[in-house]
Amino acid sequence: MVSKTIDMMKKDLPLEPGSLLLSGHVKTGLVLVDIVNGFCTVGAGNLAPRQPDKQISHMLDESVKLARMFCDKKWPVFAFLDSHHPDIPEPPYPPHCIIGTEEAELVPGYCTIFVASLSTCLYKKIAAYVRAHQRKGCIDGFLGSVDKDGSNVFILVVGICTDLCVLDFVCSTLSARNLHFLAPLEDVIVYSHGCATYDLPVHVADTIQGALAHPQDLMHHIGLFMAKGRGAKVVSEVSFGAVKEP
Ligand SMILES: [Zn+2]
Repeated sequence: MVSKTIDMMKKDLPLEPGSLLLSGHVKTGLVLVDIVNGFCTVGAGNLAPRQPDKQISHMLDESVKLARMFCDKKWPVFAFLDSHHPDIPEPPYPPHCIIGTEEAELVPGYCTIFVASLSTCLYKKIAAYVRAHQRKGCIDGFLGSVDKDGSNVFILVVGICTDLCVLDFVCSTLSARNLHFLAPLEDVIVYSHGCATYDLPVHVADTIQGALAHPQDLMHHIGLFMAKGRGAKVVSEVSFGAVKEP
């Protein structure tokens, strides 16, 4: 039933994703949206997957690969970490990613590869910057956390959730760009395989009072389509020109 719906939707809402070749001739920054335990690590919290999740695992693999490449080349990497004060709820979501908890930290596997691929100095710099500046509430990371970023001509976005925080960041950034707040930013690019969203099928949502159904594949596609509709470029391939894959 769901796959039939997805097939129909893909036909009616075609993404036609492109590919992106990063050659280093233009400045590109990588934005990691909320790749934290509370959204990605099985059993880590109210909004974490209850069981291994293929889409989320794939997102992690792809985003780690990209982050490693960007770090090796010393290109900018910016990581949002969803985090909340315990006394400020954010309905309709249950408590999650409370500041100071493991939920609000980058996923361990991600950090391990980060550490392995980065110089200690660069890792510390990123980690310190994350701690100092990039804590944010749900929904709108750009408005909540970014002061100004005029250094990148392109921004490549990966993370979770495709239809929530990733989309909101994309929309805000495009809006700021259109108002000339982010010159010389030209494009915001979303890597489809580097994004994921959570799964709450309707038959499960029906058993939880107040829960809103959130079928993963449908909402992932809709998130990407909405991003495209707002002016982002959606790509399904990212490659590096004249650079060996790690
Ligand atoms: Zn949140």
